Amino acid sequence: MTAPVQTPAEAAPLGPGCSVIGSGAPHLDPSEPAAAIPLETPEYAARWARRQASAHRELYALLDAVRDPELPELSIWDLGVLREVREAGGAITVAITPTYSGCPALAVIREDIAACLTRAGCQGFAIVEETRPPWTTALLSRAACAQLRAGGVAPPVTGPVRCPVCGSAETALVSEFASTACKAHYRCRNCLEPFDHFKMLK
Ligand SMILES: [Zn+2]
Repeated sequence: MTAPVQTPAEAAPLGPGCSVIGSGAPHLDPSEPAAAIPLETPEYAARWARRQASAHRELYALLDAVRDPELPELSIWDLGVLREVREAGGAITVAITPTYSGCPALAVIREDIAACLTRAGCQGFAIVEETRPPWTTALLSRAACAQLRAGGVAPPVTGPVRCPVCGSAETALVSEFASTACKAHYRCRNCLEPFDHFKMLK
């Protein structure tokens, strides 16, 4: 299975008041061992198809610059927080979904989205929170899982939690909660390295 490839921005309209072309989406590191990275999910594939079909792909591309404050290696797109960019009645709406209810990062994400769009010359946009259907780890991009692992965090998986350092499945849960509520703390029994695991959430 191959990852979707971001094509260069085309001359599609940016939306009301928007004039700046964004950079491309994050890409996979080809050196990453594929076996340790979960395959793309149907949920992510549906998100990608919606993005590709959007009349506002340049806005999605712009928003690739917005990172999750608690997981700065991940864009809000890769994390699945950015649900949709749509236009209604001549106004742009950015729909976001919190990873966990009451996630304190969401206020920062809202500010960063607003700053990103304002810098691009967008005016009169709205940022709305949508929690139905709720966020799940199935919304994560494969690139997100690769980036988590490269950052020493085991990505969410259905099977055994694998050590992001040596790849061993011989791992032990140390604590249900790590630096953030969405992560648990583990230790590898093979290389003895402690690491965080991004918990599976369905
Ligand atoms: Zn290990």
